[in-house]
Amino acid sequence: MKALIEKKPPVLGTNGFPLQDAAVYGPIHSRRYGCSLGINPLPITYKFCDFDCVYCQYGWTPRLGNDAKRTNEKLKSLAVLMSEIETSFQKMKAENAPVDAITIAGNGEPTLYPSFLEFVTELLRLRDHYYPKVRVGILSDSSQCHRPEIKKALGLLDERCMKLDGGDSQTVRGINKPAGNFDLEKTIKALSKLSDVTIQSLFVWGSLDNTQPEQIGRWAEAIHRVKPASVQVYTIDRPPADSGVKAVSLERLREIAAFCQKTTGIKTEVFD
Ligand code: SF4
Repeated sequence: MKALIEKKPPVLGTNGFPLQDAAVYGPIHSRRYGCSLGINPLPITYKFCDFDCVYCQYGWTPRLGNDAKRTNEKLKSLAVLMSEIETSFQKMKAENAPVDAITIAGNGEPTLYPSFLEFVTELLRLRDHYYPKVRVGILSDSSQCHRPEIKKALGLLDERCMKLDGGDSQTVRGINKPAGNFDLEKTIKALSKLSDVTIQSLFVWGSLDNTQPEQIGRWAEAIHRVKPASVQVYTIDRPPADSGVKAVSLERLREIAAFCQKTTGIKTEVFD
């Protein structure tokens, strides 16, 4: 009898929620996107992000260098990463697994992958070969979109879902805890230069709160400046990094969405 090869259990974030354990994960079923295949260009043993959002489903971000034991997994070379992705695509095609969308996301901020432009170019090549009709999108924290090569890569994709959880630095510093050199003003300007972008904004209350009327007013002003194609507002549905933050009621989310749509004229939906 052949010995069974045991797959290692996924690594858990500090909140006990599992990290993605491969370069391709899912498909994840959602009402909006159907069967969406996730692409993770980042490590599988720790979160690799320049934000440390209080609501992150992967727990707190380990600080590179300060937590050397946990963060010793190196980022994959482009060749290794693309080979893993292609092997998964081949396997899924052979199994006739349905795929309605491909989403670049993974264990942190995907645009931090060093050869991000080349990675997107190669991923689109694989998409054209294996899933020619499937749209490729990204979930990004927006922190790198001011960099020309990241802007170019984002522009190659079919969809861009970009994070903006507040319109003033104090709120963003509290909720997202970005790494030192993050500049909200620069980010808002860079977002406004992306075409056909969807802004995703997550709201919480409790130990940190981004739902106060003044904060919502500043956030809506920022949305007005970015002029996205649409806005999606939502709240947590998984264990957050900070157990003191709470989900916002559906009623309050609807009020926030209605305020944004009324003051900016931009389609704003509650996303659940
Ligand atoms: S940007 Fe995303 S991955 Fe990074 S800390 Fe925030 S929620 Fe987590």
